[in-house]
Amino acid sequence: MPNPDGLAARAQVMSTIAKNIAKVGARIREAAQASQRDFSTIGLLAVSKTKPAAAIREAYAAGLRDFGENYLQEALGKQQELTDLDLCWHFIGPIQSNKTRAIAEHFSWVHSVDRLKIAQRLSEQRPAQLPPLNVCLQVNVSGEASKSGCAPEELPNLATAVAHLPRLRLRGLMAIPEPTDDTAAQHAAFARLRELQQALNMPLDTLSMGMSHDLEAAIAEGATWVRIGTALFGERDYGRVPPQNP
Ligand SMILES: *Cc1c(COP(=O)(O)O)cnc(C)c1O
Repeated sequence: MPNPDGLAARAQVMSTIAKNIAKVGARIREAAQASQRDFSTIGLLAVSKTKPAAAIREAYAAGLRDFGENYLQEALGKQQELTDLDLCWHFIGPIQSNKTRAIAEHFSWVHSVDRLKIAQRLSEQRPAQLPPLNVCLQVNVSGEASKSGCAPEELPNLATAVAHLPRLRLRGLMAIPEPTDDTAAQHAAFARLRELQQALNMPLDTLSMGMSHDLEAAIAEGATWVRIGTALFGERDYGRVPPQNP
């Protein structure tokens, strides 16, 4: 019989973020089991946009290493504060041309490449002493509801061109489907991304899909990165984000 006082005391020393990581880990594990997938093939990318460096430190202490950021200036500031930690940084937000150099220099992965011009700049600007930049192509699987991502019809040409860029390593596809509580619609959007990837017939190993509200559907359809913010760090307050220099 566990001692209830002891359990309560232990729960108290565990931070909210550590508890959330345990809960999300359990969701990922259950979803993997339900679709007979190996849990270890699904990466948890902690989306820390709008959250302070201290939150990343806590998540690191609880075992997370991969962090996703959407806003360049904000990300660079946190990177400066966290140079003592061994972190892997992922850029997951929209990319303007004038931001590619800093992204190429300060991130290991970019999930949100959706046009060739951006890919070419990232490849040209990736520093020679760093390994090739891992990239995913963002695809718009929700039609007019979304402005980000390349159209599915453009994907084969874009993928072929990006695969030839010397300083990039094309890993797979990413999508942010229109949010919905309809699980059948969630599955359909993620299945679409998986099918688009299979149709490319290229040696790709990554499907970046699934967020706090739909990670189960994404894992059932083959996600290898789930990008989780709210379920780990709580609701976001966009007032915290510093203004972005265009
Ligand atoms: C903010 C964001 C997430 C995390 O979303 P949550 O619903 O908070 O889990 C994932 N991916 C991208 C591209 C995001 O911008």
